[in-house]
Amino acid sequence: MSEVPLLAGVELGGTKCVCLLASGPADIREEVRLATSAPGETLTAIHTVLEAWQRRHSVAALGVAGFGPLDLDPTSAKYGAVIGTPKRGWEDVALLRSFTDLGVPVGFDTDVNAAALAEGQWGRARGLESYVYVTVGTGIGVGTVIRGQTLRGLGHSEAGHLRVPRLPAETWRGNCPFHGDCAEGLASGPAIEAHAGMAAAQLPPEHPAWNEVVHTLAALFHNLVLAVVPQRIIVGGGVVSGQPQLLARVRRALLVSLGGYAHAARIAAELEDYLTPPALGERAGPLGAVALAQQALSDADEAAAARRR
Ligand code: ADP
Ligand code: ZN
Repeated sequence: MSEVPLLAGVELGGTKCVCLLASGPADIREEVRLATSAPGETLTAIHTVLEAWQRRHSVAALGVAGFGPLDLDPTSAKYGAVIGTPKRGWEDVALLRSFTDLGVPVGFDTDVNAAALAEGQWGRARGLESYVYVTVGTGIGVGTVIRGQTLRGLGHSEAGHLRVPRLPAETWRGNCPFHGDCAEGLASGPAIEAHAGMAAAQLPPEHPAWNEVVHTLAALFHNLVLAVVPQRIIVGGGVVSGQPQLLARVRRALLVSLGGYAHAARIAAELEDYLTPPALGERAGPLGAVALAQQALSDADEAAAARRR
C-alpha cells in the first residue's frame, strides 16, 4: 500500500512558531507551538521538534514559512535569510540553513505567500490560478500567487507597503518606520491604535478612525486588482476578522474606487466571493508551510526524474 507522504511545516511568526506534521488539513498528526524568542534559541527548539519527528516518522519534506522580508533569490549570498527586518536580532539570520542537515527537500517562502498557497490547495482559492491573500493584523502582508506560483522578482512582493492616496483632510503621518503613511502604516492593528489612541479591538464600529482604514484597504485592493488582476482577493488577519462590519464597507468602497473600469463589472457581480475571508483561518500559515513542503517534494521528484532521463 502506498502511503501519502508525511510533510513537516514550520510557520515562523513574530510572536510564535507553529510546527505541523501533516499530509494536509484533514490529516494533521502533530502540532507544536513555541514562543518566538532570540533567533538561536528559537531555531534550536524548532530543530529539536523536527528531529524527533524525523526519528519517529518518515518525514518526506519540510516547508518553512517565515516572517519577512526574506532573501528568496537562490543566486544571492543571503539566500534563505531574513533581511532588512525591523525585528531586533533577526537581521541576516539564516533560516533555511538551520534545517538543511535534516536531509530532506526544503521549501521556503514568506508566511503570507505560504498562506496563499494553502488557501489555493485547500481553502477559498481552490481551482484558481492567480489570486492574492492579504492579512491585516500586526502588519499588512500580501501573498501573491500567479499561475500557481508565488510571485518572484528581486525577491517577494511587499505590497502591504504600497502607498495609497489619503482621504481629504487626513494628515496623520502613519506609523510605518520606513514609509510613514503606506498602507501598513495606516491600516494595520498597531497603526489604528497609534492613530486612534485606543486598541483597534476596543474601537466602536462607528469610530471615525475606521473611515481611513476602509479608504486605505479599498485603495490597496484597487491597486492590486489593476496591477495583479487576481481572480480573487482573500482577506484575513486580526483586524478584519475582529471587525465583521469592515469587509462589507471595504467591498463597497472598492467598487466605488474602481469606477466601473475594466474588470469592475465582473467583480461587482460576485463581490462577496471576490473579496472574501479565508477558509483556513489560523491554520493558513502553518498549512502553508506544509504546502511549501509538498512543492519542494514534487520539485525534488521532478529533478530526480529528469536526471534519470
Ligand atoms: P499577526 O498579524 O501578528 O499574525 P493577527 O492577525 O491576529 O496577528 O493580528 C493582530 C492585530 O489584530 C493586532 O494589532 C490587534 O490590534 C488586531 N486586532 C485583534 N483583535 C481585533 C479586533 N477585534 N478588532 C480590530 N483589530 C483587532
Ligand atoms: Zn511601509
